[in-house]
Amino acid sequence: MSTLYVVATPIGNLSDISQRATEILSTVSTVAAEDTRVSRKLLNHIGVSPQLESLHEHTSPERLQSLVEKLELGDMAVVSDAGTPGISDPGSSLVAAAVEAGHDVIPLPGPSAIVSALSITGWSFDRFLFLGFLPRKKKDQLTTLNNAAHEPGPLVAYESPHRIKATLENINQAFQDRQLVICRELTKFYEETFRGTAAQAISHFDKQTKGEFVIVIQGAGKAVNIELSDDEISGVIKNLKENGLSGRMLVERAVEITSAPKNRVYQLSLSKDLK
Ligand code: SAM
Repeated sequence: MSTLYVVATPIGNLSDISQRATEILSTVSTVAAEDTRVSRKLLNHIGVSPQLESLHEHTSPERLQSLVEKLELGDMAVVSDAGTPGISDPGSSLVAAAVEAGHDVIPLPGPSAIVSALSITGWSFDRFLFLGFLPRKKKDQLTTLNNAAHEPGPLVAYESPHRIKATLENINQAFQDRQLVICRELTKFYEETFRGTAAQAISHFDKQTKGEFVIVIQGAGKAVNIELSDDEISGVIKNLKENGLSGRMLVERAVEITSAPKNRVYQLSLSKDLK
């Protein structure tokens, strides 16, 4: 019986490789990698040269079988291009095949863009919802976001530079009033953290959209747990009106955000001060 090590690797800064990851990558004879050219650079950096085998999202069952046969001959590691394998990255199929064949599977914890981004929100939460890469089509993306509207903890999504603008527009539509923390190029030279609403993010990233992004959206936690005052609910209604919502849509959205009874929200929405 052998061991498959699931090794987290840096998401930008090569110095983030752990000592234990370096030790394991120096010991195993084979490393299964998402892109062997990318992993070769990391392995060169730490001065080791195990045999590299490619493992991607569409690896065939035959190829997986041959990797498991290699595993039978000795311990193996699996890495992805960046971060933790199996988190929006290849890795899970080899883990499942290794478990099935009776081998040990051991994680080597390390960098992951989700956890890095969550750790600098400054928000207190005891759960979060990872949305991975959001659906590409606007309608599907809005459905995913709206379905997550009641999640008490933060929502986390990965995004690429060429889709960040469209995604922020959709987040603005779904969550006008929530705070976002957007991490761009974590651990890299152009690392940047944006804090603010989606509307502010749209103008902030208007010119600069290069790099990789993690978007963290504040959860519904506060609104669900705390009973809001009339003034606070009116503030939400005012904000929604300013963003163009009216009538039934306005009331429904305000109920969703505040968790206040519909009739109370409706009555407050009729106030002259808010017109
Ligand atoms: N397995 C990786 C992990 O554990 O974080 C995630 C891989 S996923 C294919 C790549 C996405 O992760 C990018 O599109 C981006 O959303 C996010 N990401 C990875 N590295 C990042 C970085 N340095 N800064 C910001 N986001 C990053």
